[in-house]
Amino acid sequence: MKYLVINSGSSSIKYQVIDMTTESVLATGLVERIGEASGRVQTTFYPGTARERESVVEQAIADHGSGMRSVLALLTDQEQGIITQPSEIAAIGHRVVHGGEDFQASTLITPVVIQAIERNIPLAPLHNPANLDGIRVAMEIFTGLPQVAVFDTAFHQTMPPRAFLYALPYALYEQDRVRRYGFHGTSHRFVAGECARLLGKPLSQCNLITVHLGNGCSMTAIENGVSVDTSLGMTPLEGLVMGTRSGDVDPALHLFLQQHKGMDLAAIDAMLNKESGLKGLCGLNDMRDIHKAAAGGDERAALALAVQTYRNRKYIGAFMAVLGRVDAIVFTAGIGENDPVVRAESLEGLEAFGVRLDPDRNRRHTGEARCISQEDSRVRVFVIPTNEELAIAREVAVVIGGKRR
Ligand code: AMP
Repeated sequence: MKYLVINSGSSSIKYQVIDMTTESVLATGLVERIGEASGRVQTTFYPGTARERESVVEQAIADHGSGMRSVLALLTDQEQGIITQPSEIAAIGHRVVHGGEDFQASTLITPVVIQAIERNIPLAPLHNPANLDGIRVAMEIFTGLPQVAVFDTAFHQTMPPRAFLYALPYALYEQDRVRRYGFHGTSHRFVAGECARLLGKPLSQCNLITVHLGNGCSMTAIENGVSVDTSLGMTPLEGLVMGTRSGDVDPALHLFLQQHKGMDLAAIDAMLNKESGLKGLCGLNDMRDIHKAAAGGDERAALALAVQTYRNRKYIGAFMAVLGRVDAIVFTAGIGENDPVVRAESLEGLEAFGVRLDPDRNRRHTGEARCISQEDSRVRVFVIPTNEELAIAREVAVVIGGKRR
């Protein structure tokens, strides 16, 4: 029962082959610089085991099709491959960024589904076309295989109108579907499921705040197992302070920048997405570098850390008010899983709300899912590693195998 998971970007393809009988990774890799003069196909076979080995091929990769064929050649390679023929792959799962209002769940890919993903291109003009490239190429190479689209937005389709509507002229929603969609849904759903297991009760009875802090950052309020509010918006720019993305700003900023700085909308958009967030505040966007700089006396690095963790705290407070009863707060992704300082500062002062972090548990790093709150904390706090590829593979199992989520 081997599934191939594909995350196709504009010039890259990330992939994993997962054996679903044991949920173990057989191969994981990355095709990079598609369409450029020099490309690269990197694969790690049996990662994290005694049999681990790496293969790197440097070659020009004309398009997604030749990238995928190189991957297949590696996977079926007589000496080091992990399958003898393509038909050993039972199904393929594709990450698709934007499903708009068309998809409330993962779905088997058909021509109608492809049309709907195309229809949502205006909402994700960079991501959906790249995701579609991956789908088309995989359908060509793995003819007849079940392929499933797993949407970043689908988990958040349970949000009520009061949470997903912006207070704008209603026609913008009716005619152009301008609203909050939210992203990172696969990650939020995955860690929520793992958290329910750790709490020992069905997800449908859990109220959670899931905090995904990586290069992109988002927070979700989950009531009785479903998303009822989330910090990312119509695009992945709103909400928390991210690596290079601003998160919340006053919408009137655009007019100010145009009038006073002569910036056009494209320049403002680029600034908000690529030159803001932690990077905008202190010039660094990797949290490890920010800690080093702050420890060395860089005041702006310390300020960037303070701005991010304050925003986290503000959203946690807001989502506590949304949920009323909160069973647990879950930290995940690169920063959330690895950074005890960010976790502690994001929860600072929340004792009155029933959140009591255990400093020793918070500092201990195991790489495993674990509880980091004190025994008597009314709201429990967990660190749960996210695993987007496994989450996608599990979604494939639900869609094609009728497995329960
Ligand atoms: P992700 O997008 O989930 O891969 O997260 C990537 C980000 O996680 C990096 O840009 C770093 O800021 C952060 N990160 C990774 N490892 C650590 C660590 N050990 N401590 C603090 N931050 C980390």
